[in-house]
Amino acid sequence: MASKDFSCTRCGNCCTGIKIQFVEKDLDLWVSKDRSDILENVLLGVQKKGSIFFITAAEYYAKETAGGDVILGAAGWYDSESDSRLAQCPFLKVGKDGEANCKIYSIRPQACRNFPLKQVDKGVSDRKIKQCPAL
Ligand code: SF4
Ligand code: SF4
Repeated sequence: MASKDFSCTRCGNCCTGIKIQFVEKDLDLWVSKDRSDILENVLLGVQKKGSIFFITAAEYYAKETAGGDVILGAAGWYDSESDSRLAQCPFLKVGKDGEANCKIYSIRPQACRNFPLKQVDKGVSDRKIKQCPAL
């Protein structure tokens, strides 16, 4: 599908009930922008000397040294207060008109930038893509 055929209705379906896979580029961007408010909503799985531990990205990047660590992955928005995954993105704001707005639009994750056209181009057809009314 060509990009010109796509017009987002801002329904917000793609911002709820989804486990976003964050990439290094996202983390680097938020660190460079000093956005600990975003980083604290990301839980990292980290391997250090053979053991695996979980830590928020805000805590991880605030540490003095990360030498020898391997970040294994970071998926889904996380709430440190309740120590749970969030079903809805904490940066989604639905206006009175019902339109979804992204509070971090200019620095949103790569996965959000790619949805849905890049996935469609790659031949992906998952539940969220099927629910996108703009396709
Ligand atoms: S599901 Fe589709 S139409 Fe709805 S906000 Fe996401 S990209 Fe836009
Ligand atoms: S970062 Fe923005 S585009 Fe991505 S899920 Fe959250 S509100 Fe939606």
